[in-house]
Amino acid sequence: MRIAVLPGDGIGPEITAQAVKVLQAVARAGVKCEYQQAPVGGAGYDAAGDPLPEATLHLAEQSDAVLLGAVGGYQYDQLPREQRPERGLLRLRKSLGLFSNLRPARLYAELSDASSLKAEVIAGLDLMIVRELTGDVYFGQPRGLRRNDSGEREGFDTMLYSESEIRRIAHVGFQTAAARGNKLCSVDKANVLETSMLWREVVTEVAKDYPAVQLRHMYVDNAAMQLVRDPRQFDVIVTGNLFGDILSDQAAMLTGSIGMLPSASLNEFGKGLYEPIHGSAPDIAGKDLANPLAMILSVALMMRYTFRRPELGRSIEAAVEKVLAQSYRTPDIFERGARKVGTEEMGDAVIAALRFN
Ligand code: NAD
Repeated sequence: MRIAVLPGDGIGPEITAQAVKVLQAVARAGVKCEYQQAPVGGAGYDAAGDPLPEATLHLAEQSDAVLLGAVGGYQYDQLPREQRPERGLLRLRKSLGLFSNLRPARLYAELSDASSLKAEVIAGLDLMIVRELTGDVYFGQPRGLRRNDSGEREGFDTMLYSESEIRRIAHVGFQTAAARGNKLCSVDKANVLETSMLWREVVTEVAKDYPAVQLRHMYVDNAAMQLVRDPRQFDVIVTGNLFGDILSDQAAMLTGSIGMLPSASLNEFGKGLYEPIHGSAPDIAGKDLANPLAMILSVALMMRYTFRRPELGRSIEAAVEKVLAQSYRTPDIFERGARKVGTEEMGDAVIAALRFN
């Protein structure tokens, strides 16, 4: 397996260094993997005047998986739109055809106080949101600004999904559910939107291929409510780009800690971009304060979805659980009585806890 490692900006390089230690441990355990680093985001702009330098895109295209830290920084905020760090990331996702975004939201027992919900509502939460990433109202044409007949300004976007786009993300949803608890909830707004009516029809058709998976449909407004009322009713949620954007942030925050949550964005061949859901945290960059666990857990997702070695992913997740049980805490998840450590020491603790069977 060839991995493109793109540390990016801010805390990106610090947390990526910890994830690379995990990759090296995986390699020592006899799994063939090699990696190469390249700049992206602000680092890409600094190195080559482009947030996605051609050499970086080429490396990503030639690799089986991409491991990305985070991009962005105050010093790049005034750049023209196309040169901003975030544009590099969007172009990378688009170029690699990463249409499915998997975001697990899991509450670790040791961190149950971090959630704003009551412990009895949230204990044991473990759900996965599968979000379509390359279609919907973010990409539909036409879109724009215009003046209407009375001279008033109007903004407009087009919500649009083709049958094939719905079908392929529905398959990812069902396959993800089949590998977990066999429960899939498809979220739409089929009482109002034509796009959602088609979405519901196609998802229902795809369900015939997965008789063991129990499918239900839910309107997005109800899903938003149910996620805070009783989030444990969900195992896997599949939804479009716009609804997924909002619901996945909501689900992530149920767990209370942004530094703990990984994500995977996959194309149809299983190639994936793996990254934490948080940004480059310029406020704490370079201070050995960042939590590297979301980044390390992104490597676990890589083992599951690109390497197709779920047992390796499980080993990495077990190591993270172990260091939490041993009370290691970076400042963002620190509580009284715990053992406060920096980025580097947390990475080392995970390596020490790592066991491959
Ligand atoms: P952020 O996620 O970077 O930070 C939000 C807060 O969470 C900050 O207080 C930060 O210190 C803290 N935080 C984030 N990750 C942490 C970690 N691993 N450990 C401990 N604390 C952590 O979001 P922001 O401040 O809105 O954005 C900062 C920059 O990141 C911006 O330039 C933004 O555009 C960019 N960004 C990039 C991505 C990405 O690369 N995928 C995602 C979101 C934001």
